[in-house]
Amino acid sequence: MDDTVEIAQSLIRIASVTPDDLGCQSLIADALASAGFEAEEMNFGDVKNLWLRRGDKRPLFVFAGHTDVVPTGPEDKWVHSPFSGDCVDGMLHGRGAADMKGSLAAMVTACQRFISSHPDHRGSIALLLTSDEEGPAVDGTVRVIDTLSARDEHIDWCVVGEPTSSRTLADTIKNGRRGSLGGTLTVVGRQGHVAYPHLADNPIHRLTLILSALAATHWDDGNEYFPATSFQVSNIAGGTGATNVIPGEACAQFNLRFCPDHTAQSLQEMIHTICRAHADEYRIDWSPIGQPYQTLPDTLLEAAVASVETVTRKRPTLSTDGGTSDGRFIAPSGAQVIELGPLNKTIHQVDEVVDASDLSTLSVIYEGILERLLA
Ligand SMILES: [Zn+2]
Repeated sequence: MDDTVEIAQSLIRIASVTPDDLGCQSLIADALASAGFEAEEMNFGDVKNLWLRRGDKRPLFVFAGHTDVVPTGPEDKWVHSPFSGDCVDGMLHGRGAADMKGSLAAMVTACQRFISSHPDHRGSIALLLTSDEEGPAVDGTVRVIDTLSARDEHIDWCVVGEPTSSRTLADTIKNGRRGSLGGTLTVVGRQGHVAYPHLADNPIHRLTLILSALAATHWDDGNEYFPATSFQVSNIAGGTGATNVIPGEACAQFNLRFCPDHTAQSLQEMIHTICRAHADEYRIDWSPIGQPYQTLPDTLLEAAVASVETVTRKRPTLSTDGGTSDGRFIAPSGAQVIELGPLNKTIHQVDEVVDASDLSTLSVIYEGILERLLA
């Protein structure tokens, strides 16, 4: 079996459900020790992070990824047990096969081959590993980036191994992600009898006006790389349960996925303006904000596109859709950040699976990026 697939298999066999790492990171550190990578643990709370670096010069190229996986769901529904790492008919099965232990293995073998052919490469190479990407993402990548920034260690280029491909390997590179802004809106009215509405103030009526206005708002047109900002209501609650009572409060939860033409603050101001138009008294408890990021075509993106084109003979499309990723924590440090990994068809599902030969090809693509940037 190919080295990349073998490493991926060993990682899948470790049941590192978020935020556990259970030795995945040390397995990777061991695999790269003889290639000259120095390991530094950066653990915070329950979360294990590892910074593996070879060289002390700039430019600094980083592969970033997570060793934690999402829970399996009902294990008896899996055809191959979720931590078996079975490889059958060229398909590697198990939780994390695509998201993202396969990419981690491809990063390791890409580094090994690149370093053996270029032991004196320019700049430095590092791996940033965390066990807190699928969980709250509070003590993971963001803390490592803070630690690195505090000691003036700057990342120039970063490839995150999230599964970005949709139909064929490397058909899509993500060069940014939308931001996420959510909150709970509570409208305060005055409780009363439905037969005496002049003595009450119905917060449900006010809330529905606000939500309709928010849902009808044209926030922006998006830009060359980002779809238009979208607003969705996810939960709504109000009422005492009795049919003859106007309740005192009503609330709704909402989320916006936003294009970087906005800041979270500019959106918050727009939301407040709409709320004020329909309610005298309301409050919004904002959820933690997911900042957007975007990487414009430059050295890193050009190297990645060229490497993909050489290996697959197809030009990848650039995309910024999907949820958030740890790229949002790395980009603000000034690094160019892209995401490139295997097919995302089965991620987080029962029977997660990846084409084993795709992992070997991904490793060649990663090596091609290193060749173009650091050879
Ligand atoms: Zn992931």
